Amino acid sequence: MRKAYIAGNWKMNMTPGKGAAFASELAKAAKDAGADVKIMVAPPFVTIPAVIDALKGSDIIVAAQNMNDHKSGAYTGEVAPEMLKDLGVNTVILGHSERRSYYGETDEFINRKVLLAIEEGMDVVLCVGETLEEREEGKLEEVLSAQLSGDLMNVSAEAMSHITIAYEPVWAIGTGKTATPEDADSAHAFIRSFVAKLYSSDIAENLIIQYGGSVNASNVKALMAKENIDGALVGGASLSVEKFLPIITYNK
Ligand code: PEP
Repeated sequence: MRKAYIAGNWKMNMTPGKGAAFASELAKAAKDAGADVKIMVAPPFVTIPAVIDALKGSDIIVAAQNMNDHKSGAYTGEVAPEMLKDLGVNTVILGHSERRSYYGETDEFINRKVLLAIEEGMDVVLCVGETLEEREEGKLEEVLSAQLSGDLMNVSAEAMSHITIAYEPVWAIGTGKTATPEDADSAHAFIRSFVAKLYSSDIAENLIIQYGGSVNASNVKALMAKENIDGALVGGASLSVEKFLPIITYNK
């Protein structure tokens, strides 16, 4: 049985002060509402310590939105996994489409980070997904296969229990357009079958696959009702309790 896993990617929003206040409010609201899904929030790096402090005593996981592919050294402006772990952060989002498109992250580069995160004992939320052009050209499966095999290269079967996949069609991120639950489910089914081929049917069966792309209070139930959709990676609607609470309590 795969436990629902809902994550909020704050992107470049929330100062430490605002993030801490929001996180406290969210933890209280989630507790009062009896939320029983796995919840994660990913603040910007500088906001992480304040959010960790604000979430003491709560089950909400604090993750990073990125990390460097080296352990330490002359990489100005970068953050190493050890620094995150020292703060108590054990989960990292890698391969987000905004990192791929704005910062030129390739599958090879993302793979180095995935391998380092695994070596450091961290959990990874690995984002994959196609652009509108690729979907319209019928390349969905080709794109997902290339991303999955590139990003997971040399990741062992044992390490796969530390990997969550987020299927995020690029055209649905921050646009208000959502994939239909049927389209999302069929992409998720493809990802699961591809992982079964790469690893085993057992690993594929246990793999948590989140959907991301304009998830909100109105579409979360229909998405989560689908067999292969195990959670959500939420951007815009994760930035207020009013919008995020109905998502993390979609099953109430
Ligand atoms: C995201 O940031 O991964 C995302 C899916 O954003 P949004 O929910 O705003 O589309």
